Amino acid sequence: MLAAENRVSIILISLVSLLFLVVAWFLYGQYTRSLNTHYDKFGSLVAEIVASGAVDRVNSPLSPQIKIKQFVDRMLDEHSDLVSVEFYDTEGNLIYENRDIQASARDKAQQRTFTARLQLPSTQAMRPQYLGTVSITMTGDTVDDISTSTRTMLLIVFFSAWLLTVLAVFVNSVFLQKHLQRLLQGVQRLSTGDFGFRINEKNLWGELRELAKSFNDMSMRLRIYEDQNLDTIAIERNKFEAVLLSIADGTVVVNHAGDIMMMNPSGCQHLSVTSEDALLGRNLSEYVSEDGQQSFETLLDDYKRHIRQPDAPVFAHQVEMPERTLNVSVATIQDADGNDLGFVLTTRDITKEAEVDRLKTHFISNVSHELRTPVTTIQSYVDTLYHHSDDLDEDTRIEFMDTLYTETDRLKKMVNDILDFSRLEEGDELIKDEQDITPIINLTVQSFKVLAQQKELTMSTNIESNLPQVWVHSESIERVMRNLLSNAVKYTEQGGKIKVRAEMVDTADNGPAIEVRVEDNGIGIPKAYLPKIFDRFFRVENDVHTIKGTGLGLHLVKTAIEKHHDGEVFVDSTEAEGSTFGFRLFTTSHNDN
Ligand code: ATP
Ligand code: MG
Repeated sequence: MLAAENRVSIILISLVSLLFLVVAWFLYGQYTRSLNTHYDKFGSLVAEIVASGAVDRVNSPLSPQIKIKQFVDRMLDEHSDLVSVEFYDTEGNLIYENRDIQASARDKAQQRTFTARLQLPSTQAMRPQYLGTVSITMTGDTVDDISTSTRTMLLIVFFSAWLLTVLAVFVNSVFLQKHLQRLLQGVQRLSTGDFGFRINEKNLWGELRELAKSFNDMSMRLRIYEDQNLDTIAIERNKFEAVLLSIADGTVVVNHAGDIMMMNPSGCQHLSVTSEDALLGRNLSEYVSEDGQQSFETLLDDYKRHIRQPDAPVFAHQVEMPERTLNVSVATIQDADGNDLGFVLTTRDITKEAEVDRLKTHFISNVSHELRTPVTTIQSYVDTLYHHSDDLDEDTRIEFMDTLYTETDRLKKMVNDILDFSRLEEGDELIKDEQDITPIINLTVQSFKVLAQQKELTMSTNIESNLPQVWVHSESIERVMRNLLSNAVKYTEQGGKIKVRAEMVDTADNGPAIEVRVEDNGIGIPKAYLPKIFDRFFRVENDVHTIKGTGLGLHLVKTAIEKHHDGEVFVDSTEAEGSTFGFRLFTTSHNDN
């Protein structure tokens, strides 16, 4: 099949050839006409020659017929074009006639007749003498032969030229098509992203070769650009991954349908899986946490509803998982044209904050309850004393005053604790003295004696003699002791034992230290609660017991010892067997305080 442009060129060539043919035909006509004219002149000349050659013979007195015959026969023999020769006298009567049998048999239409006068030339003596006419007939074959061969030649030349041209176009088109096919294949490979693909330049020449070279050049360049682009993308991706890996917040990328596309290690940890492979491709709505809850099912639906609102604020929800509380914020990912591609969920582990929040709520309710109790008692006692003082006997009044004093003292202690808590928390520097802490310990133990007796608790102290002096803020240490002793008393049932010990120990990390321990054989603490026991507001009672308190005591102990004295606190407890709380003050490293 010829290409369209080849068909056009063949049509053009044919048209031009046709034009040439018409022109050639016209010229050929002209040529044929001029040939005829010349042939006619030639014929007249032949007639004249025959006439002048025959005039003497016609005029001969001796057997003119024989002489004419000889002459005419020779002429007919020698000139194949001559068909016949006829002689007429002045009267127009045929004197002699002869014809070539062969020649006269030919096409009559071509034959032409020429006439010449038979006339003796003039001499001085006589004027020219007219003897008659001679008429010759010629075949006209010469003209016919020449014009036929010319015409044939013309046609042969024309058709050969036409055929050669068409053949050339065809061959060219076949080759061109083959090479173009090669170029087309290259372009197609390039369009599918096969950058760097090379077209074979072999057997190509001229402009096609140039085209192939340029193509290969362009393909190579595209390959280089692509490689550079890939490098840039890889660098960007690495940066992105490094950021994702390092951030503490979890990142979970989901597509429009909610299928998980990517997760960072923190995200995996928050969703309790070891690697992202465990969840990739799965739908986030179908994610089931260890307690069987579809934790994110409603979250994405809520978000989709949420973003439909104009000027929707940042979307953040709290998701409760069995092991942790997550704060999940969701944002939409869009492409450059603003089309939604999916969502990115940022998860933050807020277990600690949620716990503190919960404990704070407990703390507030506990504190208000604790405060209300003495205030109510004081109010009712004061009220009675004010209105009915005269009705009361002396003993009752003294008992009332006693209660008022105890309750006021309790109130004061509680307010002091809260104040201490905020002061220690703020981290104000405490002014310390280098001193022996033995008196502080003894004094506080002494002050708890009455309380212990009321509960029938045995209290004993065992303080190593000659403890070294340490830099302490005595009030803080006293408060620490009071908190530890008050807990021991509070959380030990009637008849229990409380032991207070102080001795020098050698710690592996920080050298020698004074270790103070308060041991009891009370209700103890379940092992699971021990890691949180020094946290502020934390109370085992919130979960288990009903004994009142604020949950501040042990936190104050820890802050005072660790933050303000660079010491350390410790606990050891077994549920229903008893607890040991204590602290260590290092004697070497912090003397400069
Ligand atoms: P506050 O001391 O402020 O009145 P509290 O005693 O409840 O309140 P902390 O002293 O901080 O608070 O004690 C925290 C929790 O630790 C207590 O609620 C209690 O459950 C537990 N606890 C502390 N000491 C003991 C102990 N000796 N025996 C058993 N449990 C204890
Ligand atoms: Mg306490």
